[in-house]
Amino acid sequence: MSSSLSIRKVTKIYTSAQQGQVLALEGCSLEIARNEFSVLVGPSGCGKTTLLNIIAGFDTLTEGEVTLNDAVIASPGIRATPGPDRLVVFQHGGLFPWMTALQNVCYGPVIQKQTTLSEARKIATDMLAQVGLRDIQSLYPGDMSSGMRRRVEIIRAIIGQPKVLLMDEPFRALDALTKTVVQDFLLKLYDTQPRTIFFITHDLIEAIFLADKVSVMTTRPGRMKKIMSINLPRPRSNKLLDSPEFLRLKDEVTEAVHEEAVKAFETGEREAAR
Ligand code: ADP
Ligand code: MG
Repeated sequence: MSSSLSIRKVTKIYTSAQQGQVLALEGCSLEIARNEFSVLVGPSGCGKTTLLNIIAGFDTLTEGEVTLNDAVIASPGIRATPGPDRLVVFQHGGLFPWMTALQNVCYGPVIQKQTTLSEARKIATDMLAQVGLRDIQSLYPGDMSSGMRRRVEIIRAIIGQPKVLLMDEPFRALDALTKTVVQDFLLKLYDTQPRTIFFITHDLIEAIFLADKVSVMTTRPGRMKKIMSINLPRPRSNKLLDSPEFLRLKDEVTEAVHEEAVKAFETGEREAAR
C-alpha cells in the first residue's frame, strides 16, 4: 500500500507579474523509502510548500522529476492530478462542518468508490474507537476541540490508504499542550499502521521526535543541505526529549537551520536595500 517517493533534481521557477521569475527550488533531491517518516525543515520561504505542492500535484515543476514507486508523477510537462494516493493534511484543516466526525471520515473512500457506505462506516467506527475517539463520532467539527479536529482529519486522510501522506505544518496552529497530544496520536498511529509520510514543520523538536529522517533545506532556492537519520527507538515517548542523543540531534539540526536562516535574513536585507 505505502510507497517509496523519489525527488530527483527538482527545480521550480515561478513566474509572477509582480516579482518576475522566482527560483524557488534548484536541483532539490530526496529519497523517501516505503513506510519512512520523513520530515522536512528549513527557513521560512525556502521552498518547502512548493515541493509538497509538486508532489501532491497542485503545481508543476520546471526541471527534474518525482516518482512514486518508480512511476513518474511529476516531470516537465507532466503533473499527475491530485488524488487519494497522495493525501494532504493542511495547517488549517478542512473537515466539512456540516458532517459529523464519522461522516467526515467515511466521505473520501465512499466518494472514491473504494468501498460502500456501510463498509466505510464499519472501518471508520473501528478506527475511531482504536484511537480513543469513539465518543466523538457523532460530533460536528464545531463542537470539537482543535486537537480532536486534527486527530479526525488525520484519520480521515489515513483511512483512504494513501500511498503517501503529505503534511504541511499540520500542527502549527495548535497550542503547545494540544500539540503534544496530537503528536503522540500520530506516532501511535504510525507505530500500528506504518506508512510513507512526508511531513513539513518549522519546529525542530517536533521534527526529531517524529522522524526517521530529518532533511534540512537551504535558504531559497531550496536544495537539501543536510539529511539526518534519526535512529531513536520506537515507540517514542516524551521521556526521549531529555536523552543525550535527542539533545545531540537537536543541536545538530538547530545549527544547520540557523545557518540557513541567517543567510535568508541577509539575502532579505540585500533585496530590501535594492
Ligand atoms: P516555505 O513553505 O518553505 O515557507 P514556499 O514554498 O511557500 O516556502 O515558497 C518558496 C518561495 O517561492 C517564496 O519565496 C515564495 O514567495 C515563492 N512563491 C511561492 N508561491 C509562489 C507563487 N505562486 N508565485 C510566485 N512566487 C511564489
Ligand atoms: Mg510553507
